[in-house]
Amino acid sequence: MALHRSEWDKSERDQNGVQAGAGEWRDAPSAYDDLFAEPSGNGVLTKARMPDRMADPRAVFQLVRSELLLDGNASQNLATFCTTWAEDEVRRLMDVCLDKNMIDKDEYPQTAEIEARCVRILADLWNSPAEAATVGCSTTGSSEAAMLGGLAMKWRWRKRREAEGRPAGKPNLVCGPVQICWEKFARYFDVELRQIPLEDGATGLRPHQLADHVDENTIGVVAILGVTFTCDYEPVAELSAALDRIQADTGLDVPIHVDAASGGFVAPFLQPDLVWDFRVERVVSINASGHKYGLAPLGVGWAIWRDAAELPEDLVFDVDYLGGDMPTFALNFSRPGGEVVAQYYLFQRLGREGYRRVQQACADTARWLGEQIASLGPFELLYDGRGALPAVSYKLKDDHSGFTLYDLTEQLRVRGWQVPSYPLPAHRDGTVIQRVLIRHGIGRDEASLLVDDMKRCLDRLSGGTTGAPAHPSFHH
Ligand SMILES: *Cc1c(COP(=O)(O)O)cnc(C)c1O
Repeated sequence: MALHRSEWDKSERDQNGVQAGAGEWRDAPSAYDDLFAEPSGNGVLTKARMPDRMADPRAVFQLVRSELLLDGNASQNLATFCTTWAEDEVRRLMDVCLDKNMIDKDEYPQTAEIEARCVRILADLWNSPAEAATVGCSTTGSSEAAMLGGLAMKWRWRKRREAEGRPAGKPNLVCGPVQICWEKFARYFDVELRQIPLEDGATGLRPHQLADHVDENTIGVVAILGVTFTCDYEPVAELSAALDRIQADTGLDVPIHVDAASGGFVAPFLQPDLVWDFRVERVVSINASGHKYGLAPLGVGWAIWRDAAELPEDLVFDVDYLGGDMPTFALNFSRPGGEVVAQYYLFQRLGREGYRRVQQACADTARWLGEQIASLGPFELLYDGRGALPAVSYKLKDDHSGFTLYDLTEQLRVRGWQVPSYPLPAHRDGTVIQRVLIRHGIGRDEASLLVDDMKRCLDRLSGGTTGAPAHPSFHH
């Protein structure tokens, strides 16, 4: 198999303004050809201009796939919350759904029905008082779901203010160390973000902090189930109780939106007694990422409202649906249906038992990893993997010197591990931490290989032999 070399050369020539090497016209490639059989290396992918001619699909596929290897190995990316492992059936369903558009409820009514079932399943999982009356939708991820939740709160607040004959021009949203999607929401939709700084030693927003920030222009409070930076949960029920006290003192009735991007698919299985969801009356809406601990492939999130009254009608658009109207609430129009179908498959395939077992195995691995990391010496755990997400976060001990966590990140990277270092949000931004997420597909074996590599890196960093790659075969 070979490419039409001269065509490729020509396109590169056009692009670079230089004469490329002597290209030759070839006949159509034969199935017997080998892409790498020629010393010239055959085709080169163009970088800035679409080639003039067609090329052999197998050859281009091979080149593109080879290029993607430079991305690194997703299962060693311990920075991401997102799904990096899928069983074969998920891949097959994704293929089956390649042509299904989530917005075409009319043409793909069964995909729309599957989405509606997922909404009911999640409303039930999150203890909606009346899941049949709950409204919700799939989204591209938690970011879009957060925008929708924020918009609904803004609209309700404005309506109430207008009904009271009061100004409704300066909405604010109160929160702790939120993910960047809330900063986007605030900027895009003209809402003041009142981000409360972290207290010393805190991993998230604390209830007593609310009173100083909530006022008549507060559209809501965001509570995070699984803080991005530390992986700990914010105490939703206690935050709600603090808002109860504020209401008793001031009359302000402030709703809560729970950003359960990760925790929404962890807490129901690992911490079933933790009250964070619609059991808390003040919680009006919840978002979660299907593509994080929901275990679905990338590209699906969920937004669920306690009941239809929480979702202002003028935010909902009607789309023709089998002769009737299908209400939709989304920022995008066309969107792939495969992720939603895969989410439904996973609900049916794993059931509550399966989700519990998957998340429990992750949590056990995270705890084990936390113990190992704590015993290495230089680290102090911020979150030890107990009580919230299957993850650990840690910093260097205060009296530690000689190297930084950024050095360790770089050393681990030599072996392919992606373990990011970053400062905590204000006012703990003097503290640099590392965070490791344990997800579906990362087992104890892989975690123990990470620990072995960490030990080697620490040896090297403290012994001053930082030049050598972190590879066991280099030990003599
Ligand atoms: C990941 C995350 C988001 C954003 O979710 P996407 O699905 O990546 O859009 C929002 N909030 C929290 C707490 C998150 O962890």
